[in-house]
Amino acid sequence: MTDGTRSADLLERARRVLPGGVNSPVRAFRAVGGTPHVIRRGAGAELEDVDGRRYVDFVMSWGPLILGHAHPEVVAAVQEAAARGLSYGAPCEAEIELGERVTAAYPGIDLVRFVSSGTEAVMSAIRLARGVTGRDLVVKFSGCYHGHVDHLLVAAGSGLVTFGQPSSAGVPAPFAGLTLVLPLDDSEALTRLFEQRGDEIAAVIIEPVPANNGLLVQRREFLTLLRELTAAHGALLLFDEVISGFRVARGGAAELSGITPDLATFGKVIGGGMPVGAFGGRRELMERLAPLGPVYQAGTLSGNPVAMTAGAKTLEILERERAWERLERLGQALEARIAPLLEAARPGARLVRVGSIFWMSLQPGEPPRAAEAIAGEAAERYRTIFHRLLERGINLAPSAYEVGFLSLAHTEEHIDRFAAALAEVLS
Ligand SMILES: *Cc1c(COP(=O)(O)O)cnc(C)c1O
Repeated sequence: MTDGTRSADLLERARRVLPGGVNSPVRAFRAVGGTPHVIRRGAGAELEDVDGRRYVDFVMSWGPLILGHAHPEVVAAVQEAAARGLSYGAPCEAEIELGERVTAAYPGIDLVRFVSSGTEAVMSAIRLARGVTGRDLVVKFSGCYHGHVDHLLVAAGSGLVTFGQPSSAGVPAPFAGLTLVLPLDDSEALTRLFEQRGDEIAAVIIEPVPANNGLLVQRREFLTLLRELTAAHGALLLFDEVISGFRVARGGAAELSGITPDLATFGKVIGGGMPVGAFGGRRELMERLAPLGPVYQAGTLSGNPVAMTAGAKTLEILERERAWERLERLGQALEARIAPLLEAARPGARLVRVGSIFWMSLQPGEPPRAAEAIAGEAAERYRTIFHRLLERGINLAPSAYEVGFLSLAHTEEHIDRFAAALAEVLS
């Protein structure tokens, strides 16, 4: 049974061939209930579904579309590249150009390797860290997401520092046991862990702007401590900049914080909407990768000419348009309109924002800096707000824990529409 919309009919058809009707779980609306809308077109800041309903989009494909949907210059570059062949399995000029742009923009990166997703970038960067250090243990922070790499699909047990417990079926306990999980923003737990096991740790991975569990803005001192402890113990610091890279600044969170990691991973924005990931670091680390070194890593479609063209064109436009200044101004405009509405509806509720990434914190008190500080009942409130906004043509992420994104295609008028809808919904 469906409600007769084309979306509902298509979803019913999808469920016959795709688990849950989707290819990535959050799209199924399980966190908010209801039926997802099947999309047929995106242009600029707007989406249109197969029933002809239009939305101002603040999901932007979960981050990649920093120029908006179907940017005409990116589309033209992709069409031109596609006409010259979809894949060569051999070096191409576009991958060199994108490599030059990434290494020029990001602090401390001499060499970069392209892959096809953020998950693949993280998986490969950690293999490299282990290969370089000869150590097995990896430290991650509770609330940070690094893709669906087996040994990072772990949750904290009880206690301050714990060995990871698999958070997904199918992850062997011994894999999860190679990962230590710490709370974010806890300098004491971090210091103690390094005192006890610092010399066994290959790498510490962190989202320097944690944006997969709300937006958990970190204190700079915490990141500085992390930099000092890893350096002192010969562990590598890995910034997972799959969301923040080329989003919060040209040089990502490394530029914003002034802290240079040993390795960094990228995805989302650097593919301009095509499947691209990357990881990079200092020359002597990256030269340990095959074909120069003993750490194996490969990909049939890595450095794909069409995807590399989309990424290179996107980064070219971002630099030309002084995108980060414009996005910050747009973010300020969003905050000025949305924050007072949230605050009026519930004291303490606020808009948390880093540049063009935003999140509605619907709980009283200081905005959370650790996953453990997010109040569960806020998710209930979000469900209602999400559906009422969607009815009014505003597309936010279908989960209380996911952030929103602005793009260069958003205007003050789109922000006004969001604010007007939110004012109605909250009253
Ligand atoms: C999205 C994301 C990933 C995973 O990237 P995919 O392309 O979805 O595999 C990894 N790390 C962070 C911080 C992300 O936001």
